[in-house]
Formats: sequence, C-alpha cells, structure tokens
Amino acid sequence: MKEIGNVLFGHDNGAHFFHGAPTSVLCWNCRACLDFHYSPETLKIETFYGFSQTQDNRLICSQRAKDFFLTYFDVRVSAVGAWRGNSLYHVSPKSIVPFNSLARGTRFVDHCDVCGSYKSIVEATPAYLAIERIDDRSFFRTDLVFGSYEEKASLNIVGLATAKDLHERGFSGCVFKAAFSLV
Ligand SMILES: [Zn+2]
Repeated sequence: MKEIGNVLFGHDNGAHFFHGAPTSVLCWNCRACLDFHYSPETLKIETFYGFSQTQDNRLICSQRAKDFFLTYFDVRVSAVGAWRGNSLYHVSPKSIVPFNSLARGTRFVDHCDVCGSYKSIVEATPAYLAIERIDDRSFFRTDLVFGSYEEKASLNIVGLATAKDLHERGFSGCVFKAAFSLV
C-alpha cells in the first residue's frame, strides 16, 4: 500500500449548497444531485476560509484558492456570492480518478430505482484509488460519490506536490487525508 495523493477537505462553513435548489436538481427519491451544473446564487456561510465545505459536501474556495486551481488544473468554477466582501466560488475538478470500492469495503445502501444511485454510499476514507499512481501535481474527483441523500459527493484528490503547495501558500481551511494505491 502506497500513499499516492491526498484527499482534500475544507473546514465546515455551516452552509447548505442545495438549500432552495429547484426540485429538478435533486432526485425526488434519494436526493442525489442530478444537475452538476447547478450552483446557488448566494451561500450563507458562517466562517470564511480559503477552503471550506458545505454541510452537503461541496468545496467552496476563496478567490485566491479558486485562482490557484484555475491556473494549474481543468476545473469547473461557479460564483456563489460573497462573505463580508470576500468572493466565494464552488470549484470542482473535471478529471476523474477511479476509486477502489472493493478494497475499501464501500457499502451501497438502498438502491434508488428512480435515478440509479443509492440513498447512502459509505466507507470512503482512508481512500483507496484503483490506479497505480497519479501525477504529483494534479486535481481529481473520484468516480464514486459518498454520503447520504444530497450530501453524496465525490472526494477531491490532489497530488502530493499539490498538497504541499497548498500548504506552503498558507491557504486556511485545508484538511488533507492520505489517499492510497494498492496496485
Ligand atoms: Zn435517486
């Protein structure tokens, strides 16, 4: 087992990404997100960080953190308002990395016949990736989502050099956990 990258989390900012979203955005049965282009016009956050995460597991970045990702990686970005003059952005990587659910022992609970997802997908960390290595400088999301209902979201994965870079640039709110390869 070898550490090949890090899972990137942000500090909890207390906000709900899908609060007030149109009904077409979430599956009516299992509340999986069906529209990955959706983002709220404003987000009521309680605390400002370079990196934070909504209660429903969406990564929210400051302008500087958003600019970092836009400079180096292929990402989807949407503005989600401001907090005391600080612009906020939802950032999601476009590149996908396969997750090793078999090795992780991920459990898929209550299949949803409406959208094909599950009400809950649990056991995400420590993250096992089904790939031998990823670039040291990289930003991916997992092909699987984890969590329950509208909280189901991919894990964001950064290469080891990117994790170090984020740390050295002093972004607040970054939380890293090891991501492993078993290959
Ligand atoms: Zn569903």
